[in-house]
Amino acid sequence: MKNTINLIGNTSLLDLKRETTGLPQNIAVKTEFLNPSGSIKDRIALRMIKKAEEEGLIKPGGTIVEASTGNTAIALCYVGAVLGYQVKIFLPREVGEDEKIDTMKLYGAEIEMLDTGYKEKTSDGSVHGSSIEILPRKKCLEAEKSGDNVWWARQFSNPHNAETHKFDTGQEILEQTDGQIDAFVASVGTAGTLLGVGQTLKEYNPGIKVVGVEPSGFPAMRNGKEGIEIIEGITGGLILDAIDLADDVIVVDNDQAVQMADRLVQEEGLFCGISSGANVFAAIEFVRKNPELKNVVTVLPDRRDRYFSIQRYTT
Ligand code: PMP
Repeated sequence: MKNTINLIGNTSLLDLKRETTGLPQNIAVKTEFLNPSGSIKDRIALRMIKKAEEEGLIKPGGTIVEASTGNTAIALCYVGAVLGYQVKIFLPREVGEDEKIDTMKLYGAEIEMLDTGYKEKTSDGSVHGSSIEILPRKKCLEAEKSGDNVWWARQFSNPHNAETHKFDTGQEILEQTDGQIDAFVASVGTAGTLLGVGQTLKEYNPGIKVVGVEPSGFPAMRNGKEGIEIIEGITGGLILDAIDLADDVIVVDNDQAVQMADRLVQEEGLFCGISSGANVFAAIEFVRKNPELKNVVTVLPDRRDRYFSIQRYTT
C-alpha cells in the first residue's frame, strides 16, 4: 500500500534556460521543493526516524524534538504525523514567521519559540542554520534527557542526515546526469546535503567539484573550522566534514538570493525559496570563474510560500 511517504525523493532534475543563466554551459536543478511537505528535508526526516526506530532510540507514540529554522521542523512534523509520533520544535524567534508556525501547528506539532540573540551577530538579514540554532539545540538535549521515549533527531550531527543524501539524492543525481557532472553546488545549513551528495560524487569521480554556498550574514564554512565554536554534544557535526570535502565556498547576500529566486519563479515557473535563488546565483558565479565546467547541478531546497512575510536567505 502506498501513502505520501512514498512520494519523498526521486525528484526531477531540470535544465535551466540559457536565457536565465546567461551561460552556454548547462545548470541543472533538482526540484526538492516538490517533496510532500515542501522541502528537501522530507528525505532526512524519514531516514533519521526510521533509523532511530531500528536503533531502539524511539518507540511508536514517542516524542521527536528538534531545532530548526523551519524546513526540518516541518518535515519532522509531517513524517511524524504520518508515522504516529508527537513532535516538539524549538524554533528561533528570529525565523518564526507565521506561515511556518501555522504549517507545523496544522501537522499537530508543539512549538517553543526562543530568543537566540542572533540578529546582533550578523551583517545582513540572512540566516545560517548552523549558528542560529545553538540555544535551541541545548533545549533539545534537555528535553531528551528529561523525558521518557523522547528522541532528539540531531540533524546537525546525525550521520543519517548526510547518508540520506549520499545514498539517495547523490545517487539520483549520478543516474539523472549519466555521470556527466562537473560540479555540485549547495547551500549549507547542517551541511548534510553538500556532504552526502559530495561524497557520492567524489567517490564516482574525485575531479567533480563540490561547492558550498552560505549567507553573507554568517559564512560559517567560509570562516573555517577555527571559527566554529565547539560545544560538546551541541555544535560541530557534519559541517566540519563538509569543510574538509568542499573545493570552494561562495558567499551570497540576501538581495542576490531574493532577486534570483524571483527570476526562477517568473522566468522558469520554479516556485522555489530564497536559498534556491542563492544556489543558482552561486552556480552561475562558479561557472563564470571556471568556464571549462560543462554541467553543473544544484538543488532547489524549499518552496517560495515559506517566505511570503519575510524574504530572507535562510539555510
Ligand atoms: N536551504 C534551506 C531553505 C534550508 O532549510 C536548509 C536546511 N535548513 C538548507 C538550504 C541547507 O541544507 P543542509 O542542512 O542540508 O545543509
